[in-house]
Amino acid sequence: MIDSHCHLEQKDFNPDRDEVIESWKGTLDAVVTSCAHPRDFGLTVEIVKKHKGFVFATFGLHPEYIKEISKKEKKEYLEKIKQHKDITLAIGEIGLDYHWVKEEDWREKQKLLFREMLAFAKDLGKPVVIHSRDSTEDCIKILEEEKPKKVLMHLYGSREYLERVKGNGWFISIGPLIARSKNHKKIARDFPIERILLETDSPWFGNGERGTPLNIKVAAEKIAKVKDMTTDNVMKQCGENTKGFFGIEC
Ligand SMILES: [Zn+2]
Repeated sequence: MIDSHCHLEQKDFNPDRDEVIESWKGTLDAVVTSCAHPRDFGLTVEIVKKHKGFVFATFGLHPEYIKEISKKEKKEYLEKIKQHKDITLAIGEIGLDYHWVKEEDWREKQKLLFREMLAFAKDLGKPVVIHSRDSTEDCIKILEEEKPKKVLMHLYGSREYLERVKGNGWFISIGPLIARSKNHKKIARDFPIERILLETDSPWFGNGERGTPLNIKVAAEKIAKVKDMTTDNVMKQCGENTKGFFGIEC
């Protein structure tokens, strides 16, 4: 059982980070944490090193932060990722966010940054993890043009473009959000199980409490229901998918 996307560097985990990570080791095989801001780089590397073989990391620049990252900061960050290529599973999360960024000129800047990050991933030979909010059409268009090595659409939620995602051979990840979303249930039903990964995006989506990677079980149960599979088989298959996608051995 693997959580393919969470944020262990978030301050929610400050009081007991190592303790809770230790406590997940009996239940989970691995956890993939997603560093989405330059300021989180150091702590993410520290967590991966401390929990070698259990916590893995992706490094990206969340489109929501477009307004606060200077050119210099971005350059230095990409340089650091390059230097830590060996512990970088993928570049992500990267993408477009039109929910938090409404101004047309900033959206154009997001698109440029997205293309730049896709080129960076290609240079490093890494897969990409995509964040797309209220921007699916533009996101898919750019991905189809830039053709990254492998694509994972994180918390994918648009049924309208599902056939295109499927046709392009991309992967999607589904989280505990599925429990309260008919839309996500239909997406899980209509997407091949061989290309679904489980995730939590924790500490978010904890139903008022702090979310943890253990919540992938909730997602697995719901997927099992709509796909008429056992929860165990869903967890097993999605775990294998995650290992294959990221090239993890655990
Ligand atoms: Zn995330």
